[in-house]
Amino acid sequence: MISVAGAGMAGLVTGTRLRELGREVVVREKGTRAGGSMLLSSCVVWRHRDWDQFRRECPGGDERLQRLVWERLDDALEWLRSSGAPVVWEDTGNPATVGKRFDPRGLTEALAARVGRVELGADGVGEEPAILCTGGFAAADELVTRYIAPAGSLRLRANPWSAGDGLVYAVERGAALTTGLDEFYGRNMPDAPWDETQFVSASQLYGRFARIYDEDGVEFFRRGDVSWSETNVVQATARRPGARAYYLLDADALARPVRDRTVAEMVEAAPSEARVPVSDLPFAAPPGTIVAVRVIASITHTLGGLQVDERARVLRSDGSAVEGLWAAGVDAGGVAVGGYASGLAQALVLGLTAAEDAAR
Ligand SMILES: Cc1cc2nc3c(=O)[nH]c(=O)nc-3n(C[C@H](O)[C@H](O)[C@H](O)COP(=O)(O)OP(=O)(O)OC[C@H]3O[C@@H](n4cnc5c(N)ncnc54)[C@H](O)[C@@H]3O)c2cc1C
Repeated sequence: MISVAGAGMAGLVTGTRLRELGREVVVREKGTRAGGSMLLSSCVVWRHRDWDQFRRECPGGDERLQRLVWERLDDALEWLRSSGAPVVWEDTGNPATVGKRFDPRGLTEALAARVGRVELGADGVGEEPAILCTGGFAAADELVTRYIAPAGSLRLRANPWSAGDGLVYAVERGAALTTGLDEFYGRNMPDAPWDETQFVSASQLYGRFARIYDEDGVEFFRRGDVSWSETNVVQATARRPGARAYYLLDADALARPVRDRTVAEMVEAAPSEARVPVSDLPFAAPPGTIVAVRVIASITHTLGGLQVDERARVLRSDGSAVEGLWAAGVDAGGVAVGGYASGLAQALVLGLTAAEDAAR
């Protein structure tokens, strides 16, 4: 019997593939439902179109793992579709990337049905052989403080159960950690109450048009330096006082389009507590500023994690594999270090890889 810890993206893929290969498997899920953060996501599973661009954008990542995800993703997407996951977009809508968008609920239900045995409310860590798919450590304040060291508490923009259980267990078994433990993927969100139904709609994804100041009035990030995923400005915000920033917007910025909306419409949709009149700012705004939005850095998942090889086996620092232990999804670190790449693609490809190796 192979034990899979976590029934999010990686865990469901792993369990499905093990069953397909005729292996007995139990998938244990700590939360009250299957799907993990994938169920809350936009569910676009993608890779960079161009290999060199992937390397340029995620220069700190492990090239062998990046190559595995990049080369295997297209076939893996077809496997996912053929497993019954409903495709809602045939492409990503971003010319720099290729991939597909799935319906997250349909994906969860299709794969959970194929796995057959998903135990909810169960800690999956501890039994071996095991494939760790617990989704990284975004929900563990203590680990976030230790490794990411933000200047204030980060808000969680992910499932509440991914608290580093896989990482802590594997380290006790001798596993090594990757670089990039201080990096994370997330969004700047309104500094106001919001819940998981607003994770996508409330994202303030227009840092590239704003002037970006911290609470002390320091312009700490130039809009021209904001990456397309805006991950770099979110990480920089995490290191400013209170892990907060002010996005200052002039008329030109407010008129800019972001996907199917304008920046002005996004600002209008932000909770009123986060919209700050220029006269109430704690510092003097540059001339032309019409409105400010106070944002807080929010974490979706961690980018550093367990060191694995191209067979998804958990590694020690001397490069040897920890017997009977694999890791997939964002429990494995080192794919997107230095930038941002699809966490779902990493979960899909490493999930298939781990299942196939464990089955052997
Ligand atoms: C709002 C939002 C939008 C996103 N949009 C995209 C997108 O469009 N494209 C993209 O690529 N990525 C996106 N992501 C990120 C993506 O969801 C994650 O990268 C992906 O889900 C990671 O897969 P995973 O299997 O590692 O973790 P998860 O899918 O989060 O699954 C981890 C599971 O492990 C469980 N678990 C934790 N500890 C234990 C334990 N001890 N025992 C048993 N179970 C345990 C958790 O409860 C959870 O169900 C988005 C995320 C969010 C929140």
